[in-house]
Amino acid sequence: MVAATQQYLYRRPREIVYTTLPGPTRKRPPMPYCYRLAYQNPRPTVPGCALLWEVYGGRTVYQVALERETDGKLVWHCTCADHVYRHEDDPHHVCKHVRGVAGIGRQAVTK
Ligand SMILES: [Zn+2]
Repeated sequence: MVAATQQYLYRRPREIVYTTLPGPTRKRPPMPYCYRLAYQNPRPTVPGCALLWEVYGGRTVYQVALERETDGKLVWHCTCADHVYRHEDDPHHVCKHVRGVAGIGRQAVTK
């Protein structure tokens, strides 16, 4: 028997990036985290999901999404408990997974 491969009509890039974040254990030692770009909207200026990342390295696989709202603003979402619960009380709060992917490719500012 041969396994069938489904071909998707939407664009499906296979970009993978790595970064170091505080780990999921109690002492939070730095751990490698992997981000796989699962979806990239071919029309990024249209409201809706612009980017969707799968995050590996934590207790489970999380999903981080960058959403474009109807007014053009960009909003981050993550499926982890930290983001879900703390974002309710503080709309500016972002979890380490969002900070990790938002900071990839950027250099730290030195004073
Ligand atoms: Zn998160």
